[in-house]
Amino acid sequence: ATDGPRDFIRQIVREDLASGKHAAIHTRFPPEPNGYLHIGHAKAICLSFGIAREFGGWCNLRLDDTNPGKEDPEFVQGIKDDVRWLGFEWHDLRHASDYFDVFYRAALKLIADGVAYVDDLSADEMREYRGTLTAPGRNSPYRDRSVEENLDLFQRMRAGEFADGSRTLRAKIDMASGNINLRDPALYRIRKVTHQNTGDTWPIYPMYDFAHALSDAMEGITHSLCTLEFEDHRPLYDWCVDKVDLSNHPELWQSVVAAGLEARPAKPRQIEFSRLNLSYCITSKRKLAQLVAEGFVDGWDDPRMNTLRGMRRRGFTPAGLRLLIERVGISKQNSVIDYAILENCIREDLEASAPRRMGVLDPLRLVITNLAEGHAETLTFSNHPKDESFGTREVPFARELWIEREDFAEVPPKGWKRLVPGGEVRLRGVGIVKCEEVVKDAAGNIAELRCTLDPESRAGLPGADRKVKGTIHWVSATHAVAAELRVYDRLFNVAAPDAEDDGQPWTSHVNPEAKRVVHGWIEPAAAQADAEQRYQFERLGYFVADRMEHRADAPVFNRVVTLRDTWAK
Ligand code: ATP
Ligand code: MG
Ligand code: MG
Repeated sequence: ATDGPRDFIRQIVREDLASGKHAAIHTRFPPEPNGYLHIGHAKAICLSFGIAREFGGWCNLRLDDTNPGKEDPEFVQGIKDDVRWLGFEWHDLRHASDYFDVFYRAALKLIADGVAYVDDLSADEMREYRGTLTAPGRNSPYRDRSVEENLDLFQRMRAGEFADGSRTLRAKIDMASGNINLRDPALYRIRKVTHQNTGDTWPIYPMYDFAHALSDAMEGITHSLCTLEFEDHRPLYDWCVDKVDLSNHPELWQSVVAAGLEARPAKPRQIEFSRLNLSYCITSKRKLAQLVAEGFVDGWDDPRMNTLRGMRRRGFTPAGLRLLIERVGISKQNSVIDYAILENCIREDLEASAPRRMGVLDPLRLVITNLAEGHAETLTFSNHPKDESFGTREVPFARELWIEREDFAEVPPKGWKRLVPGGEVRLRGVGIVKCEEVVKDAAGNIAELRCTLDPESRAGLPGADRKVKGTIHWVSATHAVAAELRVYDRLFNVAAPDAEDDGQPWTSHVNPEAKRVVHGWIEPAAAQADAEQRYQFERLGYFVADRMEHRADAPVFNRVVTLRDTWAK
């Protein structure tokens, strides 16, 4: 992994190591704990943790907890679980709030250096003074306050003397800059909100750009990888790092040392890459939260959700998701990836890793009339057709079976290969049966098929080679275990649910058929599955034993993905 380019970021890292610019690579993944991680985050995680691993460096998990009120310890735990589930481990777990004292001292330094000031403009006024893309901004009337007055006001902001929103600390950069981010951006705001880690210690909180740049610098991050929308923030990121200059000012980070945290500040380099956008997916935490709040799904971990925990519960594999990220690659090109590519990555992983079992979604009784009443035997099936290391299992076979209702047609369409009245089909692993009689109930519905089994065609006998058109799966009606099978499909019925401009709310594109619950039958060996065990139910698709609700005596399986792409035109 360390010798070829693969992408432009790995190439930069490689050159920085080769030139001796860095002795080791340090990256970080900095989510805000205001929701659960989603498929888009998987790209950022695989990139930052992946590069650290490949090049023998470190990656920190840093919770960007600078927005008290919106953040929750429940999300912190969820983020940690999800990162580990994807297959990564952090060097250090940090919180931006670990550095609140550093940020405060850094702000005092900027004021003392004459490059930050306290502004009394309201948020609306500040917006108006900021100007537009085509018109330069105007200086605030408070911009030229003396250092002494600024220090006094900022210390009083910190002491809690002023009301929320009444004053702001701003960087003094350039109100005429072509880059609006440099028009004296806010560094601190007053918010008297209890913080989940620091309680009521702070009535002021740092703004994202300031806190993010200094957190990276504090942790000695060498390559700070983020998505393209931060490209225009990079000059401000560099401004914060350079003006504060933590490396040369250890007095600013005594609190970090005192807390026993490793501190070796350095100048980080921000590099941007394009976001992961997937069709049929939502990659905004706010919108994912809306799906939960408005009851379109059963929770953040609903198997229809493209959160990492939703996809986990759905049965998607970490290896399949990592394969997707590798396939999509890293660039600065924005694009939308087809959801089918994700499904194919999951199939590819499961094809190799999932043992085979048999189950029936929509049962139709099939009686083999030339077997004795009560006949039962045990057949040995291989667990994987292409990999002997999966071993074998015993499958009970009996006179009465369940087959899939759709494997029989009274009036077959053209090209039909499955069972018809008077026709033959192979029962997987058993032999060839012929449908002698179709039994109907009073309402005229097909209740049962009465068949004969050709004894010469039993598996292992010379007659087993006899050609018939179709092979179908089955379970023993005497031995099978009743199971709840949740058949999932895409959550939206349009590819770009949140971009569709048809005057309807975006949630109107939720696919009501995305969850279908059926009561079927599975072979006993499948019922014994541990939670999260994945199987290929032959001919039906890949299924996973539900993480939360599956029990051996009351099995619950989720369909992960079909065997083939059924959405392709
Ligand atoms: P939201 O806007 O939904 O809150 P966010 O981007 O603010 O999401 P964060 O928790 O701040 O979410 O993101 C943590 C990291 O994950 C950031 O560095 C961000 O760039 C990255 N990230 C978020 N979404 C994507 C995506 N779709 N593709 C790649 N990286 C992403
Ligand atoms: Mg965010
Ligand atoms: Mg965002």
